[in-house]
Amino acid sequence: MHPTRLDHWIGGEPVASHADATASLNPSEPQDVVAEVPVGTAAEVAAAVAKAAEAQRAWRAKPGPAKADALTAWAAALQSRAEELAGLIAREVGKPIAEAKGEVGRGVAILRYYAGEAVRDHGSVIPSQFPETLQFSLREPLGVVGLITPWNFPVAIPLWKAAPALAFGNAVVWKPSELSGAVASVLAETSGQAGLPAGLFNLVHGDGSTGAALAACEGVEALSFTGSARVGGLIAQACAARNAKHQTEMGGKNAGIVLEDANLTKAATLVAGGAFRYAGQKCTATSRVIVERPAMEAFLAELKRIAEALPLGPVCDPACAIGPLISDAARQRVLGALTGRDLLFGGPVPSPFEDGYFVAPTAVMVEDENDTLAQDELFGPVLAVIGADDAEHAIRLANATRYGLSASLFTQNIGNALRYIREIEVGLVRVNGDTTGVDPHAPFGGFKGSSSHTREQGPAARDFYTQVKTVQIGG
Ligand code: NAD
Repeated sequence: MHPTRLDHWIGGEPVASHADATASLNPSEPQDVVAEVPVGTAAEVAAAVAKAAEAQRAWRAKPGPAKADALTAWAAALQSRAEELAGLIAREVGKPIAEAKGEVGRGVAILRYYAGEAVRDHGSVIPSQFPETLQFSLREPLGVVGLITPWNFPVAIPLWKAAPALAFGNAVVWKPSELSGAVASVLAETSGQAGLPAGLFNLVHGDGSTGAALAACEGVEALSFTGSARVGGLIAQACAARNAKHQTEMGGKNAGIVLEDANLTKAATLVAGGAFRYAGQKCTATSRVIVERPAMEAFLAELKRIAEALPLGPVCDPACAIGPLISDAARQRVLGALTGRDLLFGGPVPSPFEDGYFVAPTAVMVEDENDTLAQDELFGPVLAVIGADDAEHAIRLANATRYGLSASLFTQNIGNALRYIREIEVGLVRVNGDTTGVDPHAPFGGFKGSSSHTREQGPAARDFYTQVKTVQIGG
């Protein structure tokens, strides 16, 4: 069967593109072409931005309850296609089906949460230095907001950007990853199914060139990006050059720290889950584990036992935990990084999965904290294991990267936990927990090279998607 060629979604309807296309493949079975994804042109981006600007003028004037109703209706439309969308996520990006279902549920929760935000107070009263004067701040929308997103959370990430953008009165032009185009098209359709006013939420498919056109487009007042640090840097430059507001949420080199007094079975279970589920392809995945040396031998035995029991596929099996890497290039990158290394366990996977881009959960002992496996984001099921002399040394090692997204400490000692909470340089701090996973109503984002230092989700999203006016009214 010939794969579907995707349409953009502009002005509340599908719009055919005659641009060149790339193929989106099923990473479990790459001979299965999920869709042809057009590479949107700068003219197509500009057309979407014009539609969005027109829709935003009416939308910003709508009362908060009407905005809340629209987001609530979108949540219901998304819920009505949850099974279909979860199956498509599993097929197009190789996410195990249980996690794919969880992601769609999270998308519904995000839309409901921001429906509530649309009717909350959007400013505050500030005492004035002048008598009989009322002074207050007003939060106003920005206009048209551009969104550029990765493939790994193809529903949750676009929605945790689009929902607050819309709740606070903006319109959206979204450029999803070319590797998750089919999921993106269904998500856009659900906005139409919900009756969202035409032009408020637009989708332009494409690759990096389309993203670059969106970041450079003059009518785009702000841009929210999630993806790699390399591309985030380019987007920040493009936006700064035309003074457009921007946020970039990027990669991580997230550490689990296991102290001698930890519950080692619990630590190994959560480290294995954080490192290997979804083949380590989460920005918050645990990619280093720093272990106090006296606990090393017992911890590694538990880790190996638990990691090797995690089901690798097929992704449609509800028990599946790991799944394939997103592409052949990703698999080659991961295997290349393992070449010549002594593996504690894992590595290339033998049949029956040889056609897909699978790699077994893998751990490698790393002696030097500057080793590339301890420094660079590999985005695969590979865990660098590092020995530490004591708690202080472990925290220092955890901080010794340019990233600062997420970390977890495993200990029974409250003093060590309090010290770590104070000293660790990451935005998401866990104690006796997984480095992955986040509540959609809690702020999300990283320190150092992981983020432009803004936060997404929860009430924090309001700061990005609004601008403040300070008003004085004299008597
Ligand atoms: P990527 O940076 O390759 O691509 C992200 C998006 O940017 C895609 O839509 C892509 O088409 C687009 N793009 C590529 N080049 C561009 C350019 N020059 N100008 C504008 N847009 C461009 O990332 P990816 O491989 O899709 O996703 C994996 C990365 O995302 C990892 O680094 C991961 O850590 C990160 N990530 C971060 C978070 C977070 O919240 N911090 C969440 C998920 C993923």
